[in-house]
This record gives sequence, structure tokens and C-alpha cells, in this order.
Amino acid sequence: MHEFALAEDIIKTIGTSVNHKFGSISQINIEVGPFSGVVIDSLEFGLQIIMKEKTNPTVKINIKQVSARAQCQCGKSYSFTTMFDGCPVCNSLQRKIISGMDIVINSVEIRENQ
Ligand SMILES: [Zn+2]
Repeated sequence: MHEFALAEDIIKTIGTSVNHKFGSISQINIEVGPFSGVVIDSLEFGLQIIMKEKTNPTVKINIKQVSARAQCQCGKSYSFTTMFDGCPVCNSLQRKIISGMDIVINSVEIRENQ
């Protein structure tokens, strides 16, 4: 299941960037592009399993699907959620996709050590 491997990567990335001296992770906010190929439910499930293994079962996982952004050949940049949404100005599908294929760890919230 590719979402599970992805969840492991996300936790690894967070684990190396969070200084655990300050506290434990209370919430992970992730943004998923509509063309990333990720099933949000599966990703959330994978993250929850890993966090439980890491004895942090109280972490809240917040995964949001965001819209993709593209720049049209006419110069307009716009957001869209399906591949068939063309440019709002000229209706063209000739564009450069700027985002929407990716998964972004938007933020991580830390609960301070008591
Ligand atoms: Zn256009």
C-alpha cells in the first residue's frame, strides 16, 4: 500500500525536523493535491498506525485536499480541481501545472512538556 510508505516518509521528515525537547507532537497538518494519487483515508490510517507505534496515540491528523494551480499559456494563473477544468479566461488546457501533484506537510503543532 503506497500510502503507508508515504506515511512513514512523512513521520520520518517530521521526526528529524521537530525538536522533542520542547514537547510532543499534538497535530499534523497535511495538504494533498488533487493529482497526487493519494487516498486521504488510507494516508490518515497509515499515519495513525505509525503514531500509535511511536506511543503518541493522541496526535490529531488533519489532511486537507487543496486545489491545484496552473499557469495558462495566456498568462493567467488559476486553481482547479479536475484535469478538465480549463483556463477561466481563455478556456485553454495548455498550461503549466504549478502544484497539485504533491503532498505538503503544512505545519506541525507541538504540545509543550508540562
Ligand atoms: Zn488562458
